[in-house]
Amino acid sequence: MDNVTRLGNIIVKEIRVKSALSRSGLPEYDYALNPYLGCQHGCIYCYAMDFTRGEPGVRWGEVVYVKVNLIQVLLRDIRRFRPGIVGVSTITDPYQPVESRYKLTRRSIKVLCNAGYHVSIQTKSSLIIRDLDVISRCGRSVDVGFTITTMRNTYRVIEPMAAHPMARASALRKIASLGVETWIFLGPVLPGMNDKVEDYEPVIRLAKETNSQVIIDRFRPRPIVTSFMSRKLNPIYRVTRDWWRETLSSIMRLCKDYGVNCITAEDEWEISRK
Ligand code: SF4
Repeated sequence: MDNVTRLGNIIVKEIRVKSALSRSGLPEYDYALNPYLGCQHGCIYCYAMDFTRGEPGVRWGEVVYVKVNLIQVLLRDIRRFRPGIVGVSTITDPYQPVESRYKLTRRSIKVLCNAGYHVSIQTKSSLIIRDLDVISRCGRSVDVGFTITTMRNTYRVIEPMAAHPMARASALRKIASLGVETWIFLGPVLPGMNDKVEDYEPVIRLAKETNSQVIIDRFRPRPIVTSFMSRKLNPIYRVTRDWWRETLSSIMRLCKDYGVNCITAEDEWEISRK
């Protein structure tokens, strides 16, 4: 461990890594690039808790590890691998507050686009606006997705440290206006938390306005995240087939009414496999 500091309530620890790109387990990406381990946004439904080893996983939303030699290692990795689609990021938010100090995401995007890789960015942060210059220079080799689970204030319960959904919407509008391909991840949908029309109709409207695709997903229980959620939410909400069938068909009806291209996460995985 090289250096330990604080950023607000978060403990920030610098580490050195041996690789920057890893083979992605998600069918839509060839590689994953995660500049940080752990995430300051501390979303209570975050699957990354189940995939992050050690302290950042155990102390979710309290400790973030920073891969300080990431760019140096990435420059070596891009020469070893064949260019493909890189998910930035898959188990952390690439634009969480610590990125304003280290700029690892910004520098990684530059390196990847220059080397002929396609960068697919997913965030809940408006800090991404800082990098509009880099993103627009990537041309067609970049797409940007914002996770928006609801436009209501209930987001504070499930995504306590993430940007307000209105700030995410405004950042999305700016990026879409540059002609960058954009999408919205409407998920995870949680029973009783963000499964009402008033949660998702404004999201579908935003997708219409910005010409963004919407990817919809339900909550998928996993051991660590489920236990974390059960400590935060009372009562514990159950994901049932009937609930999801009804909720999904209501969302899809709205997508049709607004003329928005909506797909489920499963559909996206199927398309990526072809
Ligand atoms: S922003 Fe993403 S990675 Fe960060 S805690 Fe929330 S769901 Fe997890």
